[in-house]
Amino acid sequence: MSTLTDYINGLSSGNEFYTTQKNLRIIVRCLSIYHIVLALAFIFNDIMALAVYNAIVAILYFTFIAKLTDRNRCSIALTLSICEVVLCTLISTLFTGMDTGFAIYNVGCITGFFYVNFIIQQKHSLVSFFTSLILSLCYMFNYLISLYVEPIAPIKSIVWVRTFYICNHMITFAMIVVFTFLIVWEIRSYANKLKEHNNLLNEAALKDPLTHLYNRRSMNEILNTSMSVLKSKGKRFSIILGDIDNFKQINDTYGHDAGDEILIAVANTISECVGTQGSVCRWGGEEILILINASIETASVIAERTRAAIEETVVTTDGQKLSVTMTMGITESIPGYKIENLIQQADDKMYYGKKNGKNQVVISLPNDI
Ligand code: GH3
Ligand code: MG
Ligand code: MG
Repeated sequence: MSTLTDYINGLSSGNEFYTTQKNLRIIVRCLSIYHIVLALAFIFNDIMALAVYNAIVAILYFTFIAKLTDRNRCSIALTLSICEVVLCTLISTLFTGMDTGFAIYNVGCITGFFYVNFIIQQKHSLVSFFTSLILSLCYMFNYLISLYVEPIAPIKSIVWVRTFYICNHMITFAMIVVFTFLIVWEIRSYANKLKEHNNLLNEAALKDPLTHLYNRRSMNEILNTSMSVLKSKGKRFSIILGDIDNFKQINDTYGHDAGDEILIAVANTISECVGTQGSVCRWGGEEILILINASIETASVIAERTRAAIEETVVTTDGQKLSVTMTMGITESIPGYKIENLIQQADDKMYYGKKNGKNQVVISLPNDI
């Protein structure tokens, strides 16, 4: 039961082990069991040649083809299986006629082939196309044979003929449904994987790997966009530049790893405080640049709240409880002003804060007032 649950979970999560190796194993096992059942049915109907043929094929599936799939020689296993199906339908039609419905497996195999070919990553999709064409022609060939050649060993019981016909057709319909379903499943799982890869790539391109804040490059784009919106719609924004106080001392005393942990904790605290009101970036080292989509008054409130939250944040590393503070400078956007100049203004205010006791938010310089 747990194996079945694992299998279903593996399939739905797109785990390659389940979708490729295990699915192929199941298909090969089903084929062996099917040929054993056929062998017994032919013994019952006294057609020993077909019984022996199916018994041999069942053994081949159990041993040789199963081993090929286990060793990842899937292309060879697939080619042999398709040849076997073509041969099996042809021999069965020759012996029992078209009424038993064995020829239909040529059609059922088309979706099976597409599926297996897809999961074993065959590059030539034309192979699937031509194989489908050959299988369709084989079906017609079975029909033509039945028109011109009398069955070698026709089944006497009409009940058995109908049973064969119904079973063969039902199995074929089931094959079409199951393989189509599995193909859709595979495509979905590939799409999900691509989405995850794209997210990771985006994350790597836009974010700082340590803090997961925006990196400098993506923040520059955000700043340029905000400046364009300011020019076109007059929507003001503010810039907060913050720098952790005495961070070098933390590194020197507790080590670089402890410094990293503090940096991550500070980044998380800032992100929480800013929320959807702006964007947070690791501008460099332990310098954080925050863009607030609001006036300097609102930005000052957010900055003060953030400063206080950082002061309250405690990081425990190696049994030591550590906390840091941050000094910030704020400036508001001015239409036509260069972004670098705005950042420089914020930097000047932060520098003033550093010189005057640190752990504070500087909104204006004394000579501004
Ligand atoms: P101040 O209060 O004047 O800012 O003093 P400070 O010690 O913080 O001085 P400064 O800003 O010049 O020092 C920055 C230090 O931050 C130096 C550098 O080793 C450290 N740092 C920069 N990036 C990282 C990082 O990714 N991880 C760690 N652990 N330390 C970093
Ligand atoms: Mg510093
Ligand atoms: Mg610094």
